[in-house]
Amino acid sequence: MTSVPPRRRLAGPSPGEDLASARVHAESFRRLLDPLAAGHDRNERFSPRLLTLLKEQGVWSAVHGSAGGHPSLAVQCAWAEALAAACPATAILVQSQMTLAHTLALAGTPSARALVDEMRRGAITGWGLTEADAGSDVLSMRSTATRDGDSYIINGSKRFISNAGMATQYLIFARTAPERSSRAISGFLVPADADGFSIPRHERKLGLRASPTGDLIFDDVRVRADALIGGVGDGVSLALNTLQWSRPLIGAVGLGIARGAYEALCDLIGSEPGGVSVLSGARQDDGHGVADLVIEIAAARSLLYDVARRADEEGTLPAVWEASASKTFCTDVAMRVVCEALVIGGRAAVKPGARLERYFRDAKVTQIFEGTNQIQRNAIVKNLPTFSGEVGLVPAQSAVPLKAAVAAADLSMSVAEPVGPRVDP
Ligand SMILES: Cc1cc2nc3c(=O)[nH]c(=O)nc-3n(C[C@H](O)[C@H](O)[C@H](O)COP(=O)(O)OP(=O)(O)OC[C@H]3O[C@@H](n4cnc5c(N)ncnc54)[C@H](O)[C@@H]3O)c2cc1C
Repeated sequence: MTSVPPRRRLAGPSPGEDLASARVHAESFRRLLDPLAAGHDRNERFSPRLLTLLKEQGVWSAVHGSAGGHPSLAVQCAWAEALAAACPATAILVQSQMTLAHTLALAGTPSARALVDEMRRGAITGWGLTEADAGSDVLSMRSTATRDGDSYIINGSKRFISNAGMATQYLIFARTAPERSSRAISGFLVPADADGFSIPRHERKLGLRASPTGDLIFDDVRVRADALIGGVGDGVSLALNTLQWSRPLIGAVGLGIARGAYEALCDLIGSEPGGVSVLSGARQDDGHGVADLVIEIAAARSLLYDVARRADEEGTLPAVWEASASKTFCTDVAMRVVCEALVIGGRAAVKPGARLERYFRDAKVTQIFEGTNQIQRNAIVKNLPTFSGEVGLVPAQSAVPLKAAVAAADLSMSVAEPVGPRVDP
């Protein structure tokens, strides 16, 4: 069994919403979102009205917590879950902002802190790690950042980047050294209006259609030296810390989709002749199918909030295996629940525009991004926990600086120090 890397200890909890009040707030916001979701998906764009609603209804301040504190992962999961039950694309927007603000606050440089303050007021940020030839295998990245006096000059491109075109700044990753090493990559903030920066195209996608996904091009983009987030060579550790926080949140999006699909199915069969007999158990085969959905959702919920509670109580990032397990299980449950609900729901469920049809397309994407579920399984195998006493026990953790997380290269989407061109770490 590999040794478990120490977990990053975080600043004290933010005196923001507690979990119970966050659930009430998030569920009431969900009711505003429900009627907008289908149009959102159909138009393949966020409505400006929704962005206004997110600000007016205090969503950004609720999810980011107060300045100087550390947000609660359980509270953020509750928001991601409730939003995804209505509109997974909106949940992904909010999830990405929760994750990036968390990463920037941890990095703590003046430019990062200033951006977090802007995000609390509603500014949108993007994150660019993936390239055309560097998805799971992050170290294949080709974009470069070259020091030039008191600036860096960035060249290269990123692909499949969420919030492309909506964001005012992007946290992007580029090589500051040529070798294939986790110390060769650094993170930079790039303003969307920088000279040489462009977004030439957006993807058309199966799911999460209202969440814009595009290419970022850097053509001699000059940024000031203080755009460097963390130190030179800290990019992989920054990315790993980001993923360790974001993966349970993607799990929460999966859980919300599963819940939304279950609710849609109950509405559908409850409104059809004969439906009552399914829900009352008179038609046992279909009734058992519904019971299985309940079991899966309840199990996913327990795992997710258990992971989040432990991270909040211990004041650390979730353990690697917990972050990956919660992402994988909850998003796999989302896919299974939606598929089963489609079968039970029958032809009404598969009509274009039907809620279940939309959840089906959205659920698939959650198994792919933020590290595919295969990559999560790799990370779990490399960070096997010991189960003794309370489930999920790992050795007592101590505070470690950001750089130490580089040692945990197997937390990544698939970051390794291999010799060959593309090797599973
Ligand atoms: C809607 C959407 C939004 C996205 N937003 C962003 C964003 O904002 N920022 C960003 O940086 N990226 C973003 N991505 C990119 C996303 O993180 C990548 O798609 C993901 O990491 C997988 O990379 P890939 O698509 O290149 O697949 P590949 O890495 O090419 O993988 C292809 C297949 O091979 C499998 N595979 C690869 N390596 C291994 C291995 N070592 N072991 C086992 N199986 C393996 C994978 O699991 C997968 O099944 C987004 C993707 C999507 C779909």
